[in-house]
Amino acid sequence: MSSNSSDAPDAHYDNVSAAWRYLMGESFHYGYFERSDMDLDLATHALTERMAAAGAVASGNRVLDIGCGIGAPARQLARTRGCHVVGISNSIVGIELAKQEAQRADLQPRISFEVRDAMDNRLPDGSFDCAWVLESSHLMPDKPAMLREASRVLAPGGRLVLCDIIVHRDLPLREVVRQARSFDLLRRVFGRAKMETLDTYRRWLEELGMEAIETEDISHQTAPTLSAWEANAQRYRSEASGLIGETAWSEFYEACGVLRKMWKDGILGYGLVVAKKSAPTVG
Ligand code: SAH
Repeated sequence: MSSNSSDAPDAHYDNVSAAWRYLMGESFHYGYFERSDMDLDLATHALTERMAAAGAVASGNRVLDIGCGIGAPARQLARTRGCHVVGISNSIVGIELAKQEAQRADLQPRISFEVRDAMDNRLPDGSFDCAWVLESSHLMPDKPAMLREASRVLAPGGRLVLCDIIVHRDLPLREVVRQARSFDLLRRVFGRAKMETLDTYRRWLEELGMEAIETEDISHQTAPTLSAWEANAQRYRSEASGLIGETAWSEFYEACGVLRKMWKDGILGYGLVVAKKSAPTVG
């Protein structure tokens, strides 16, 4: 069985979640390295904190974690910010693991997890103070729909905060063709994805009528993640390949090198986006 046999993100994450705990740690996202030799767990923790500060997540806030993985950022937010978090993901396995960990951490009912599609989340209008999108947007085929849904569930004045892999520029077709083998490898390892520029995210949020849109390129601070994943792959080779198979393990290892080169060549990078939902005008 190939761990990456399906293009659907739900199936992909059902297959890889257990192995990725060895390869990436509890958080399925990049780290924010204040120093390049920082420990990966501290760096992933730092990215969540950086995002929480940008989203002004405060005690008692209601946060919707869109594409919540196995719930590590939700647990961290509840602990460090004292907020309530509803995590949604389309991976049944991921949601089960997230629920177990929340119970173990004694964080229920402050955090809860549900299987839902972020592009059609069916949650009530205006019911959250923060819509949190941490490295899940690149997996959504219809990003404007996900952002529209995120904005819909925000209360007026609520913030949307998003971190994800970005493209620095729209790639001409000949470059896509030249890199086809690499993109194919990345798709097998990380699932079918489409990255966008920070300007595209800004435009989509403007079209939704959101305010105070800010974007920041944090490619430099996230780059050391790739060597940290490679080191984990070496360290936990037998555990990870026992879960996803030797081929998927070596593809993961190779993909880290491919990503590192794309980062260095300025093709891919990492961005932070913040926006505020406008309050309705009176009169
Ligand atoms: N934010 C988490 C997980 C990132 S991995 C963390 O930082 O640890 C990407 C997550 O997005 C996975 O949980 C995957 O199942 C979820 N996802 C991808 N497409 C989705 C969709 N259409 N609806 C809901 N969740 C989705």
